[in-house]
Amino acid sequence: MTPTPCAVTLGSLHYDIVVDAPHRPAAGETVTGSAWRPVFGGKGGNQAVAVVAAGVPCRMVSAVGDDAFGPFLRDGLRRAGVDDAHVATIAGTGSGMSVAIMDVGGDYGAVIVSGANLAIDPGVLAKDALWQDATHLVLQNEIPEALNLAAAEAARARGVTTVLNAAPARPMSDAMARAVDILVVNAGEAEALCGRKVASLEDAGIAARALAERFRVVVVTAGGDGVAVAGQDISHAEPGHAVALVSTHGAGDCFIGTMVAELVRRESLDEAVASANLAAARHVSQPR
Ligand code: ADP
Repeated sequence: MTPTPCAVTLGSLHYDIVVDAPHRPAAGETVTGSAWRPVFGGKGGNQAVAVVAAGVPCRMVSAVGDDAFGPFLRDGLRRAGVDDAHVATIAGTGSGMSVAIMDVGGDYGAVIVSGANLAIDPGVLAKDALWQDATHLVLQNEIPEALNLAAAEAARARGVTTVLNAAPARPMSDAMARAVDILVVNAGEAEALCGRKVASLEDAGIAARALAERFRVVVVTAGGDGVAVAGQDISHAEPGHAVALVSTHGAGDCFIGTMVAELVRRESLDEAVASANLAAARHVSQPR
Protein backbone atom coordinates (compact mmCIF):
# COMPACT_ATOMS: atom_id res chain seq x y z
CA MET A 1 0.00 0.00 0.00
CA THR A 2 1.29 3.51 -0.80
CA PRO A 3 1.91 5.50 2.38
CA THR A 4 -0.34 8.53 2.95
CA PRO A 5 1.77 11.51 3.95
CA CYS A 6 0.48 13.38 6.98
CA ALA A 7 1.18 16.26 9.37
CA VAL A 8 1.82 16.21 13.12
CA THR A 9 0.60 19.10 15.28
CA LEU A 10 2.00 19.51 18.77
CA GLY A 11 0.30 22.12 20.92
CA SER A 12 -2.54 23.29 23.07
CA LEU A 13 -6.12 22.16 23.56
CA HIS A 14 -8.42 24.59 25.38
CA TYR A 15 -12.02 24.31 26.48
CA ASP A 16 -13.09 27.88 25.71
CA ILE A 17 -16.09 29.22 27.61
CA VAL A 18 -17.49 32.20 25.73
CA VAL A 19 -19.86 34.39 27.77
CA ASP A 20 -22.11 37.03 26.19
CA ALA A 21 -22.52 40.03 28.52
CA PRO A 22 -23.80 43.62 28.20
CA HIS A 23 -20.33 44.84 29.17
CA ARG A 24 -17.11 43.43 30.58
CA PRO A 25 -17.02 43.51 34.41
CA ALA A 26 -15.03 46.23 36.17
CA ALA A 27 -13.02 45.36 39.31
CA GLY A 28 -15.40 44.03 41.99
CA GLU A 29 -18.43 44.12 39.67
CA THR A 30 -20.73 41.17 38.92
CA VAL A 31 -22.42 41.42 35.53
CA THR A 32 -25.43 39.32 34.50
CA GLY A 33 -24.66 37.69 31.17
CA SER A 34 -27.21 36.52 28.61
CA ALA A 35 -25.66 33.24 27.36
CA TRP A 36 -22.55 31.09 27.37
CA ARG A 37 -21.24 28.34 25.14
CA PRO A 38 -18.34 25.92 25.18
CA VAL A 39 -16.05 26.17 22.16
CA PHE A 40 -13.32 23.72 21.13
CA GLY A 41 -10.10 25.70 21.13
CA GLY A 42 -6.39 26.04 21.69
CA LYS A 43 -4.20 27.03 18.76
CA GLY A 44 -2.77 23.51 18.49
CA GLY A 45 -6.16 21.84 18.28
CA ASN A 46 -7.56 24.45 15.91
CA GLN A 47 -4.63 24.09 13.53
CA ALA A 48 -4.79 20.28 13.58
CA VAL A 49 -8.49 20.54 12.68
CA ALA A 50 -7.65 23.05 9.93
CA VAL A 51 -5.07 20.69 8.37
CA VAL A 52 -7.66 17.88 8.20
CA ALA A 53 -10.31 20.30 6.89
CA ALA A 54 -7.87 21.05 4.07
CA GLY A 55 -7.82 17.34 3.21
CA VAL A 56 -4.64 15.97 4.82
CA PRO A 57 -4.42 13.54 7.77
CA CYS A 58 -3.05 15.00 11.00
CA ARG A 59 -1.86 13.51 14.29
CA MET A 60 -2.18 15.63 17.42
CA VAL A 61 0.27 15.62 20.31
CA SER A 62 -1.25 17.21 23.40
CA ALA A 63 -2.68 16.47 26.83
CA VAL A 64 -6.00 16.94 28.59
CA GLY A 65 -6.95 16.66 32.26
CA ASP A 66 -9.07 13.94 33.86
CA ASP A 67 -11.96 16.37 34.21
CA ALA A 68 -15.22 16.77 32.27
CA PHE A 69 -13.52 19.03 29.69
CA GLY A 70 -11.06 16.32 28.57
CA PRO A 71 -13.64 14.15 26.70
CA PHE A 72 -15.10 17.29 25.05
CA LEU A 73 -11.67 18.19 23.65
CA ARG A 74 -10.89 14.62 22.59
CA ASP A 75 -14.31 14.32 20.90
CA GLY A 76 -13.70 17.64 19.12
CA LEU A 77 -10.53 16.21 17.60
CA ARG A 78 -12.13 12.88 16.72
CA ARG A 79 -15.23 14.43 15.15
CA ALA A 80 -12.97 16.55 12.95
CA GLY A 81 -10.99 13.46 11.94
CA VAL A 82 -7.75 14.30 13.80
CA ASP A 83 -5.82 11.30 15.16
CA ASP A 84 -5.81 11.70 18.97
CA ALA A 85 -3.75 8.58 19.79
CA HIS A 86 -0.94 10.82 21.13
CA VAL A 87 -3.20 13.01 23.30
CA ALA A 88 -2.60 11.95 26.91
CA THR A 89 -5.05 12.18 29.79
CA ILE A 90 -3.19 13.46 32.85
CA ALA A 91 -4.54 12.35 36.23
CA GLY A 92 -5.09 15.05 38.84
CA THR A 93 -4.72 17.93 36.35
CA GLY A 94 -7.30 20.26 34.83
CA SER A 95 -7.65 20.55 31.06
CA GLY A 96 -6.49 23.73 29.38
CA MET A 97 -9.33 26.24 29.35
CA SER A 98 -10.25 29.87 28.86
CA VAL A 99 -13.09 32.18 29.79
CA ALA A 100 -13.82 34.98 27.35
CA ILE A 101 -16.33 37.70 28.23
CA MET A 102 -17.75 39.09 25.00
CA ASP A 103 -19.51 42.46 25.19
CA VAL A 104 -22.28 43.67 22.86
CA GLY A 105 -19.75 45.58 20.76
CA GLY A 106 -17.88 42.31 20.06
CA ASP A 107 -14.85 43.27 22.21
CA TYR A 108 -13.74 40.68 24.70
CA GLY A 109 -11.46 40.07 27.66
CA ALA A 110 -10.18 36.56 28.30
CA VAL A 111 -8.27 34.48 30.82
CA ILE A 112 -6.43 31.35 29.67
CA VAL A 113 -5.27 28.53 31.95
CA SER A 114 -2.83 26.14 30.28
CA GLY A 115 -3.49 23.25 32.68
CA ALA A 116 -2.65 19.85 31.17
CA ASN A 117 -1.01 21.50 28.15
CA LEU A 118 1.99 22.13 30.41
CA ALA A 119 2.21 18.39 31.14
CA ILE A 120 2.68 17.13 27.56
CA ASP A 121 5.23 14.33 27.86
CA PRO A 122 8.28 14.91 25.60
CA GLY A 123 8.80 11.10 25.65
CA VAL A 124 6.16 10.84 22.89
CA LEU A 125 8.63 12.46 20.48
CA ALA A 126 10.76 9.30 20.49
CA LYS A 127 7.90 7.10 19.24
CA ASP A 128 8.23 5.87 15.65
CA ALA A 129 4.43 5.63 15.38
CA LEU A 130 4.13 9.41 15.85
CA TRP A 131 6.30 10.19 12.84
CA GLN A 132 5.26 7.42 10.46
CA ASP A 133 4.68 9.00 7.00
CA ALA A 134 4.80 12.50 8.54
CA THR A 135 6.31 15.24 6.38
CA HIS A 136 5.47 18.37 8.42
CA LEU A 137 5.31 19.32 12.11
CA VAL A 138 3.14 22.29 13.14
CA LEU A 139 3.93 24.20 16.35
CA GLN A 140 2.55 27.30 18.10
CA ASN A 141 3.56 29.35 21.15
CA GLU A 142 0.93 28.21 23.66
CA ILE A 143 3.25 25.57 25.14
CA PRO A 144 6.73 26.10 26.62
CA GLU A 145 9.55 26.77 24.16
CA ALA A 146 11.61 23.86 25.55
CA LEU A 147 9.00 21.38 24.32
CA ASN A 148 8.66 23.13 20.95
CA LEU A 149 12.43 22.97 20.56
CA ALA A 150 12.57 19.27 21.46
CA ALA A 151 9.80 18.60 18.93
CA ALA A 152 11.48 20.61 16.15
CA GLU A 153 14.79 18.82 16.79
CA ALA A 154 13.09 15.40 16.77
CA ALA A 155 11.37 16.39 13.52
CA ARG A 156 14.61 17.46 11.87
CA ALA A 157 16.30 14.21 12.90
CA ARG A 158 13.58 12.39 10.95
CA GLY A 159 13.60 14.68 7.92
CA VAL A 160 10.30 16.31 8.89
CA THR A 161 9.83 20.04 8.14
CA THR A 162 8.87 22.27 11.10
CA VAL A 163 6.33 25.07 10.65
CA LEU A 164 6.11 27.41 13.66
CA ASN A 165 3.18 29.77 14.06
CA ALA A 166 4.78 32.11 16.63
CA ALA A 167 1.44 33.00 18.23
CA PRO A 168 1.12 34.45 20.76
CA ALA A 169 4.36 36.37 20.17
CA ARG A 170 7.10 35.86 22.76
CA PRO A 171 10.89 36.23 22.76
CA MET A 172 12.55 33.31 20.97
CA SER A 173 15.91 31.68 21.60
CA ASP A 174 18.43 31.39 18.75
CA ALA A 175 18.25 27.59 19.10
CA MET A 176 14.50 27.69 18.45
CA ALA A 177 14.89 30.08 15.52
CA ARG A 178 17.45 27.72 13.96
CA ALA A 179 15.22 24.68 14.51
CA VAL A 180 12.30 26.23 12.60
CA ASP A 181 12.05 25.66 8.83
CA ILE A 182 9.09 27.95 8.12
CA LEU A 183 7.95 30.75 10.45
CA VAL A 184 4.37 31.99 10.02
CA VAL A 185 3.31 35.19 11.81
CA ASN A 186 0.56 37.78 11.46
CA ALA A 187 1.24 41.53 11.39
CA GLY A 188 1.20 41.96 15.19
CA GLU A 189 3.48 38.98 15.80
CA ALA A 190 5.87 40.13 13.06
CA GLU A 191 6.03 43.55 14.72
CA ALA A 192 6.75 41.96 18.10
CA LEU A 193 9.54 39.80 16.63
CA CYS A 194 11.29 42.39 14.47
CA GLY A 195 10.29 45.72 16.05
CA ARG A 196 8.94 47.23 12.79
CA LYS A 197 5.40 48.46 12.25
CA VAL A 198 3.43 46.25 9.84
CA ALA A 199 0.47 48.18 8.42
CA SER A 200 0.59 47.24 4.72
CA LEU A 201 1.71 44.47 2.38
CA GLU A 202 4.88 46.46 1.71
CA ASP A 203 5.60 46.61 5.48
CA ALA A 204 4.94 42.86 5.69
CA GLY A 205 7.56 42.29 2.99
CA ILE A 206 10.10 44.43 4.82
CA ALA A 207 9.38 42.59 8.09
CA ALA A 208 9.59 39.19 6.37
CA ARG A 209 12.98 40.06 4.84
CA ALA A 210 14.25 41.36 8.21
CA LEU A 211 13.10 38.16 9.95
CA ALA A 212 14.66 36.04 7.19
CA GLU A 213 18.04 37.01 8.64
CA ARG A 214 17.12 34.84 11.63
CA PHE A 215 14.75 32.25 10.13
CA ARG A 216 15.08 30.09 7.00
CA VAL A 217 11.71 30.96 5.50
CA VAL A 218 9.27 33.56 6.81
CA VAL A 219 5.59 34.02 5.93
CA VAL A 220 3.94 37.22 7.20
CA THR A 221 0.15 37.38 6.83
CA ALA A 222 -1.22 40.91 6.71
CA GLY A 223 -4.98 40.31 6.87
CA GLY A 224 -6.82 41.55 3.79
CA ASP A 225 -3.67 43.28 2.48
CA GLY A 226 -2.01 40.00 1.54
CA VAL A 227 0.92 37.75 2.44
CA ALA A 228 4.68 38.30 2.19
CA VAL A 229 7.18 35.45 1.95
CA ALA A 230 10.94 35.81 2.39
CA GLY A 231 13.94 33.55 2.69
CA GLN A 232 17.54 33.46 1.62
CA ASP A 233 16.68 33.30 -2.09
CA ILE A 234 12.97 34.07 -1.87
CA SER A 235 11.07 37.34 -1.76
CA HIS A 236 7.47 37.15 -2.83
CA ALA A 237 4.27 39.03 -2.08
CA GLU A 238 0.74 37.84 -2.71
CA PRO A 239 -2.05 40.43 -2.56
CA GLY A 240 -5.15 39.70 -0.47
CA HIS A 241 -8.49 38.77 -2.04
CA ALA A 242 -11.21 41.40 -1.88
CA VAL A 243 -14.12 39.78 -0.02
CA ALA A 244 -17.13 40.96 1.97
CA LEU A 245 -15.81 40.52 5.50
CA VAL A 246 -18.05 38.61 7.92
CA SER A 247 -15.67 37.46 10.69
CA THR A 248 -11.90 37.13 10.91
CA HIS A 249 -12.23 34.54 13.70
CA GLY A 250 -9.98 31.56 12.92
CA ALA A 251 -8.52 33.14 9.75
CA GLY A 252 -4.92 32.50 10.78
CA ASP A 253 -5.65 28.84 11.67
CA CYS A 254 -7.38 28.30 8.30
CA PHE A 255 -4.38 29.88 6.55
CA ILE A 256 -1.87 27.63 8.36
CA GLY A 257 -3.97 24.46 7.99
CA THR A 258 -4.34 25.00 4.25
CA MET A 259 -0.70 25.99 3.74
CA VAL A 260 0.56 22.91 5.62
CA ALA A 261 -1.88 20.60 3.81
CA GLU A 262 -0.62 21.88 0.43
CA LEU A 263 3.00 21.44 1.53
CA VAL A 264 2.25 17.86 2.66
CA ARG A 265 0.77 17.34 -0.83
CA ARG A 266 4.19 18.48 -2.14
CA GLU A 267 2.99 21.75 -3.61
CA SER A 268 5.64 24.50 -3.78
CA LEU A 269 5.71 27.12 -1.01
CA ASP A 270 4.38 29.80 -3.38
CA GLU A 271 1.48 27.59 -4.43
CA ALA A 272 0.78 26.61 -0.81
CA VAL A 273 0.72 30.28 0.25
CA ALA A 274 -1.56 31.22 -2.66
CA SER A 275 -4.03 28.41 -1.79
CA ALA A 276 -3.93 29.36 1.90
CA ASN A 277 -4.55 33.03 1.08
CA LEU A 278 -7.58 32.09 -1.00
CA ALA A 279 -8.96 29.60 1.55
CA ALA A 280 -8.56 32.11 4.42
CA ALA A 281 -10.24 34.86 2.36
CA ARG A 282 -13.21 32.52 1.79
CA HIS A 283 -13.16 31.67 5.51
CA VAL A 284 -13.46 35.33 6.60
CA SER A 285 -16.33 35.90 4.18
CA GLN A 286 -18.48 33.08 5.61
CA PRO A 287 -20.71 33.26 8.68
CA ARG A 288 -19.78 30.83 11.46
P1 ADP B 1 -4.63 36.25 12.12
O1 ADP B 1 -6.01 35.75 11.87
O2 ADP B 1 -3.69 35.22 12.65
O3 ADP B 1 -4.57 37.55 12.89
P2 ADP B 1 -4.46 37.59 9.52
O4 ADP B 1 -5.36 38.67 10.03
O5 ADP B 1 -3.23 38.04 8.80
O6 ADP B 1 -3.99 36.59 10.67
O7 ADP B 1 -5.33 36.66 8.56
C1 ADP B 1 -4.83 35.44 8.06
C2 ADP B 1 -5.24 35.29 6.61
O8 ADP B 1 -6.66 35.38 6.51
C3 ADP B 1 -4.71 36.38 5.69
O9 ADP B 1 -3.41 36.08 5.23
C4 ADP B 1 -5.73 36.33 4.55
O10 ADP B 1 -5.44 35.24 3.69
C5 ADP B 1 -7.03 36.05 5.30
N1 ADP B 1 -7.72 37.30 5.65
C6 ADP B 1 -7.80 37.90 6.85
N2 ADP B 1 -8.52 39.04 6.79
C7 ADP B 1 -8.92 39.17 5.52
C8 ADP B 1 -9.71 40.13 4.81
N3 ADP B 1 -10.22 41.20 5.41
N4 ADP B 1 -9.89 39.95 3.47
C9 ADP B 1 -9.38 38.87 2.84
N5 ADP B 1 -8.64 37.91 3.45
C10 ADP B 1 -8.41 38.05 4.78
